[in-house]
Amino acid sequence: MADPGKLAMLGGARAVARQDVTKELTGWPVVTEREHAALRGVLDGGLFTSNDAGRGEVSKLQTEWARYVGTRHCAAVSNGTAALELALAALDLEPGSEVLVPALTFVGSAVPVLQRGLKPVFVDIDPRTYTLDPVAAEKAVTDRTRAVIAVHLHGLPCDMTAIAALAEAHGLFVIEDAAQAQGATYQGRRTASLGHINAVSLNVVKNLPTCGEGGLVTTDDETLYERVVLHRQFGEDLTPGRDRDYLSRVLAGNEKLSAVQAAFTRCQLERLDADSAARDRVVRGFLGRLDALPGVVVPVCPEDRTHAWHILRLRFDPAAAGHPELSAGAFRAVVQRALRAEGVPVQPYQVVPLPGQQALRDVGADIEDFPVSLAVIDESVTLQRWHLNPACGPVLDRCATAFEKVWDQLDTLAPVIASARHRPPWQAAMNAGAAR
Ligand SMILES: *Cc1c(COP(=O)(O)O)cnc(C)c1O
Repeated sequence: MADPGKLAMLGGARAVARQDVTKELTGWPVVTEREHAALRGVLDGGLFTSNDAGRGEVSKLQTEWARYVGTRHCAAVSNGTAALELALAALDLEPGSEVLVPALTFVGSAVPVLQRGLKPVFVDIDPRTYTLDPVAAEKAVTDRTRAVIAVHLHGLPCDMTAIAALAEAHGLFVIEDAAQAQGATYQGRRTASLGHINAVSLNVVKNLPTCGEGGLVTTDDETLYERVVLHRQFGEDLTPGRDRDYLSRVLAGNEKLSAVQAAFTRCQLERLDADSAARDRVVRGFLGRLDALPGVVVPVCPEDRTHAWHILRLRFDPAAAGHPELSAGAFRAVVQRALRAEGVPVQPYQVVPLPGQQALRDVGADIEDFPVSLAVIDESVTLQRWHLNPACGPVLDRCATAFEKVWDQLDTLAPVIASARHRPPWQAAMNAGAAR
């Protein structure tokens, strides 16, 4: 008889079988008849662009998102990276001004800073929340610092009280990168309403998706809003009812959103709160089971905020798991292999802190200056995408069973881990970059 406890890595049966993972349970985004009808409406209606005189899908999405987060203005743009770039453009900072950016985030949080001729100054993260460490941020401030990008990494709003205090003390603008945290709240207020100017992505993988690419910028400041609008459309004044004059008032490209994208997102926005609540229940149930396993460090959500659970990061502590002799990096690497063999798609999210990215090398920062980011990258895995579907409970249950199975067999894995020749993920990444 097959031994149900035998690890799939060693030839046993998988805890998560392929047939358990259906599109109905794990597909994202969820596409319903509402989305189909909305897209047909755009095709039949003829208003295809954001220049829709307030009557089209783009204008309606702008109004609805501003109302949802609680800001006066919203400008729809082509993607989340463009949203950050336009937010920075609106601030009109002197070239070379410094902008604080967490060392652990998606590259799209930092590239717009360089695109605007500004200098990213990287800041290490907090080991519990994985978001910008306000104490490290304070130390990174110089007399050239003008702004801070508050990234709500993985869906958890960062410590906005501390960041607002830092900004107040040093006269900085706060830009939220809420690309991963649509719908999350901080002290009762929605993300994307907490900074001077704020960005979200509507990329198809995000919690508030479109069927492709999109982004939204929000602000209470009318001047900033008008500058975003000018910069998304060639610097032209496209006020409805006015003849187009083809005069570019500022140097700007084309970063507008299309009506098809807006129509899809409006349907998703109707369901965002219900989806978030369902996801919160399912994810908390899953994390509760993992939290019972010694040495699995599950993500925290401080009392004063809600978590959008965009990405689930699980960190491992071999000493707490009863194996103080094992290195945490090697432990993570072998457990990751064992879990993947069981059918749990754990994977790294970021293999190198941003300053180690080949593309950001010229910034001149040294990854060794970000020890928390390095440790988190080496000692944790992430789950992405499946759990965004609010119906994924049964699949996450099987994933939790897979973790329990692997934890039952840690004594079998310990000698494998002890003899593994471990290289942290960023070594391979940085060498690969250098080879090109
Ligand atoms: C996705 C993402 C972005 C960029 O958004 P795009 O729409 O893909 O350009 C920026 N920052 C973070 C944290 C993200 O996750």
